Amino acid sequence: MAKYIKVPTFKLNTGATIPAIGFGTWRSTEEEAYNAVITALKVGYRHIDTAYIYGNEHIVGKAIKDSGVPREEIFLTTKLWATGAMKSAESLENSVKSLGVDYVDLYLMHWPVTMNPNGNDDKFPSKPDGTRDVIPESEWSYVDTYKSMEKLLENGLTKAIGVSNFTVFKMKKIINECKIVPAALQIELHPLLPQQELVDFCQNNGIIVEAYSPLGSIGAPLLKTDKLIKIAEKYNVSTAAICISWQVWRKVVPLPKSVNPERIEANLKIVDLEDADGEEISNLYKIHGVQRFVSPDWGVVIFD
Ligand code: NDP
Repeated sequence: MAKYIKVPTFKLNTGATIPAIGFGTWRSTEEEAYNAVITALKVGYRHIDTAYIYGNEHIVGKAIKDSGVPREEIFLTTKLWATGAMKSAESLENSVKSLGVDYVDLYLMHWPVTMNPNGNDDKFPSKPDGTRDVIPESEWSYVDTYKSMEKLLENGLTKAIGVSNFTVFKMKKIINECKIVPAALQIELHPLLPQQELVDFCQNNGIIVEAYSPLGSIGAPLLKTDKLIKIAEKYNVSTAAICISWQVWRKVVPLPKSVNPERIEANLKIVDLEDADGEEISNLYKIHGVQRFVSPDWGVVIFD
């Protein structure tokens, strides 16, 4: 029998508590997202991750309401999209309205990039030559966006602010040039992209790190890795549960996504990894090579 552990909680630098596993909601139909969030809350998730750009805030909010789980028991995150970077207050207001809640627990800058808010598309504007319509950093940078986000804490529509898809260089810039240390950083993290230096930097500065695509994103390709399968057999749990347990072992918050009820439940059944197994997983990238599964086309530097 597998020895499951209760999902722990971590503390944000605001003093708030964050459940160590969040539920991802990217890339699903409205019906799938609705049913998935209802199932997730039913089987025990208390942390939901969405974003304006996923187009499902209204569905996620409805599912939260219909689940019957009190709002205050749920840690809810949404994200500021790049076309809203120059109007973070209005963007947050719209997200909170779509979600149908009074506040979110965490508002993240989705990418350190600003896209033209008046471009040819309100989500993915492009220039006549087909490239992304990105505002140069000399005109408006992610630091300007973050400074505007600091003011969002004043009216209570979000309890904390943070960033996503930042590097060590960009985290240092925010810490050096802004007043409020981000509460969290959300990045792609899994055994083939452990980003240990960035994780260490954040943890040494009291910033919670969240792992997106913890299974390798679409189709969960990491679950075919022999070593992970072997470790899963040892603990008598699914290979996905090992990927998720590994993040919790390194004090990172994974955000697995699934629309399948059995998988949603299985992904919450984590185990306490022995340090030797945790270390072995941390080093798998040396055998298989580093792999990134989320590579957008707006030219953001992902590694310093
Ligand atoms: P994940 O690594 O969570 O993988 C999701 C895929 O794995 C889906 O195809 C899912 O299929 C499958 N899967 C889930 N559980 C299992 C299981 N137990 N066994 C087999 N297959 C499984 O990828 P995501 O890219 O979705 O990342 C997770 C979340 O992180 C997102 O949903 C989003 O909330 C966030 N995110 C944030 C980003 C950012 O820029 N800040 C970027 C990317 C993601 P199925 O649904 O059919 O089960």
